[in-house]
Amino acid sequence: MVPELVGKLTELGYEVAVEPGAGNHALIADEEYAEAGATLDEAAFDGAALVVSVQPLDLGTARRLPAGTSTISFLPTQLEPDLVVAYRDSDVTSYALELVPRISRAQSMDALSSQAMVAGYRCAVVAAGMLRRFFPLSMTAAGTVQPAQVVVLGAGVAGLQAIATARRLGAVVQAYDVRAAAAEEIASMGAKPIHLELETLEGSGGYAREMTDDRAARQRELMAPYIARADALITTAAVPGRTAPVLVTRDMVEQMAPGSVVVDLAAESGGNVEGSEPGEVVRIGNAQVWGGRNVPSQMPGPASRLLAQNIVNLVTLMTARDEDDRASFAPDPDDEIVAGACVTRAGAILHEPTRLAVEGEPAHE
Ligand code: NAD
Repeated sequence: MVPELVGKLTELGYEVAVEPGAGNHALIADEEYAEAGATLDEAAFDGAALVVSVQPLDLGTARRLPAGTSTISFLPTQLEPDLVVAYRDSDVTSYALELVPRISRAQSMDALSSQAMVAGYRCAVVAAGMLRRFFPLSMTAAGTVQPAQVVVLGAGVAGLQAIATARRLGAVVQAYDVRAAAAEEIASMGAKPIHLELETLEGSGGYAREMTDDRAARQRELMAPYIARADALITTAAVPGRTAPVLVTRDMVEQMAPGSVVVDLAAESGGNVEGSEPGEVVRIGNAQVWGGRNVPSQMPGPASRLLAQNIVNLVTLMTARDEDDRASFAPDPDDEIVAGACVTRAGAILHEPTRLAVEGEPAHE
């Protein structure tokens, strides 16, 4: 939560308790929350109907929550099976921000998109900062400075924002994505779509489908010359629930010119670029390769503001009013957004893929 949105929650009828220091990493002082009407409380969890956090709670805290408490946070269930089990067993209702369905009505609650937007911007700025040459074309009395050539792979929310930012800085941008609709979206951001002689890969819900090994190898082969000519390469490709596809091998990076820069936003989920390390800059051939790690947190102010707004919108949807206009936290379990985001409720795991992974298959036990 950010102080400027605490008032939205108190207007809804809630009391807001904030753990001291909760805003430290976002450069927000405790006093700002207090001035906005929140209580600073070491035991903020005690008696809370709803616990909101960015990252999932730690297991110890989760186990101490009384039955009937609700939680909202990012909750990557495949990485946190023990936490899901703790919520199930202590009868806690948990909602995962990444499971909010991507339907029009939920756009204002879409934390994946708001954080991807921040990350995409950051990637372009990091690339511009690391590249020791100009992004824009400059005509000067001392001669013409050629613009930087940028290639962006993956043109979802983060990739499109990286393209828009690199374009605003004046670079010449080319981009590729496996989805059919992407070429038009890339062009609308002022970049040139890269057309490879390959079939498109549409999955469900507007997402990409995973590539076969053959398709992946062919894509890398066709992409290699574009990467060899790039001054900066930004990769943002992802397939939901899978490790990130390897789009760029070491060999391909080694073909890049001295001083080139690679920014791999997917480094944390396996990496689009072979050899990239989350949170590190490594050298491959002549290129500096920057691996992203919790990239939205590198712009904590706007990332927090956008996330807090997503959460306020979600909490507003989950708030019911009685005849006397008294508000209570009472999500309608039949609402598509509430149902989609719900991981556990009433002692059961409701998100079926998570339930199958945690309870269904002996291999996971
Ligand atoms: P994402 O983070 O899952 O993936 C990022 C991008 O990587 C995607 O565009 C994907 O197609 C691409 N990709 C996957 N494999 C690739 C490969 N081998 N090579 C190149 N690119 C590859 O995606 P996202 O940013 O969450 O968005 C995915 C889609 O959802 C987009 O079409 C977006 O417009 C749509 N979306 C819709 C809504 C909404 O309707 N509310 C909200 C957000 C996003």
